[in-house]
Amino acid sequence: MLRLTELRLPLDHAPDAIATAVVARLGLRRDELLSHEVARRAWDARRRSAIELVYSVDFAVADEAALLKRAAGDKALARTLGPRPDTSYRHVAHAAAPPARRPVVIGTGPCGLFAALILAEMGFRPIILDRGKVVRERTKDTWGLWRRGVLTPESNVQFGEGGAGTFSDGKLWSGIKDPQHLGRKVLTEFVQAGAPEEILWVAKPHIGTFRLVQMVESMRAKVEALGGEYRFGTKVTDFLIETGRDGQRHMRSVVTEAGDTIETDHVVLAIGHSARDTFEVLHARGVHVEAKPFSIGVRIEHPQSVIDRARFGTFAGNPILGAADYKLVHHGTNGRGVYSFCMCPGGTVVAAASEPGRLVTNGMSQYSRAERNANAGIVVGITPEVDYPGGPLAGIAFQRHWEERAFVVGGGDYRAPAQRVGDFLAGRPSTHLGSAVPSYKPGVTPTDLSLCLPDFAVAAIREALPQFARSIPGFDMEDAVMTGVETRTSSPVRIRRDASFHSVNTRGLYPAGEGAGYAGGIFSAGVDGIRVAEAVGRDMAGLSQEA
Ligand code: FAD
Repeated sequence: MLRLTELRLPLDHAPDAIATAVVARLGLRRDELLSHEVARRAWDARRRSAIELVYSVDFAVADEAALLKRAAGDKALARTLGPRPDTSYRHVAHAAAPPARRPVVIGTGPCGLFAALILAEMGFRPIILDRGKVVRERTKDTWGLWRRGVLTPESNVQFGEGGAGTFSDGKLWSGIKDPQHLGRKVLTEFVQAGAPEEILWVAKPHIGTFRLVQMVESMRAKVEALGGEYRFGTKVTDFLIETGRDGQRHMRSVVTEAGDTIETDHVVLAIGHSARDTFEVLHARGVHVEAKPFSIGVRIEHPQSVIDRARFGTFAGNPILGAADYKLVHHGTNGRGVYSFCMCPGGTVVAAASEPGRLVTNGMSQYSRAERNANAGIVVGITPEVDYPGGPLAGIAFQRHWEERAFVVGGGDYRAPAQRVGDFLAGRPSTHLGSAVPSYKPGVTPTDLSLCLPDFAVAAIREALPQFARSIPGFDMEDAVMTGVETRTSSPVRIRRDASFHSVNTRGLYPAGEGAGYAGGIFSAGVDGIRVAEAVGRDMAGLSQEA
């Protein structure tokens, strides 16, 4: 099979136009094209009057070598033609026998889930621990906050089976480098677990929250069938680390809140960015933890129709394009970068707190992306050196401070503070909301968002919104609504690891995923889980760490 990229066709092309375009580009007769399938479909909406679909197509011809040889003489063609990459997944190790000391995976988010799956497939029978509940029970608790304003600290948007991305838009793209095509394994497993097959070939796949719930259950069943063992409601509260004869610190066991000790030499730490108590324990046990930059801001909502019109013009509503997204960046005159984060077309703003008395926003959607509003974080970059000096955990204190302010300003019952964009730009509190109805549940309190954001963030966002309106007309409309605060854009810490994926000062501890600062999003967390599981597998099988 060969792959041809950069094949551009109009949005409304006929089904057989792809084959016609392939043979035209390659200078073939139609009967020389033995078979073809779409490997990737993106769209280019830079010219709104002529939106194009951009395909990569895998195809077969009788003599591939001859075609490649002929194409080599045509620079433009050669740039877009080559062998189809081999994206199949191969395990790096296999357990010779069931291990006496089983590896432990902490966390069942995408990182822990894929680490567990790969370890189980290699025969290492992982024990998988999560502080939260199985996904169905967790769903009830999460809705408890959204419907009734009751937060369950160990079972919510952040904690429990499936991790932080379970109630999300389920966006599955990422800019990570992935030379081994591990992302293909993530997407393939998701499809086997119930995701729509199109995620394998559309450029910006998403799943939506309902399907994610079923998929997480299905993947758990697979891991269990392969010898993995899940324990929910099991929070790890301590790590026993010993200095070995080699003078290095080694992981020996983890201790759970119930007081159980699980002996292990391999711990995959996939705890996500909200496990603040666990970060504290790790730091207290001498594991190398350092402060890391992240961002703070608000969530903004516009009618989805405003975004669709701005991005797609007369093509707004086209089923191939779906609900429009956006990605915006502004470099503020106060030196702060402002950018859109986790944009959810046709979605809702969700209460994403995990600690009592603190309030956090985020966004989610269903697969259909059919809700009335578009939402996105509008966040401002912050760094430990400037904004929260004072040690590895100072970013957590910073987050807590602003989340507490938001809780108080919102009314002290998990209603979110909210403000119309017109009022925010004019520097006056909102007393009522306008045509854009905020979707956040359990409700909002019209107020002044500058009461729960640092001054530099307010100034930078005020400057950015009119700038964003230059790319998306209407972005700074009076009645667009903002809720706050958005503080969990990424982990406030990095738990640094070495080239063989061990913590830099604790062998046998494998920091992984978003919480350790090695992923940002579902897809990259899944890929990181695979990488780390491979490192554990090699170590357990006594193999070198060379990939
Ligand atoms: P997590 O998913 O956070 O999982 C960590 C797990 O560890 C949790 O299940 C937790 O219960 C468990 N845990 C923590 N501490 C302990 C302990 N001490 N003992 C036992 N268990 C513990 N990303 C996207 O790519 N696309 C999106 O559309 C998207 N939307 C999002 C919407 C929302 C509302 C949220 C909150 C996040 C969204 N994200 C999205 C981000 C994405 O969810 C995360 O990047 C991803 O889940 C990180 O994966 P992870 O496995 O590293 O950590």
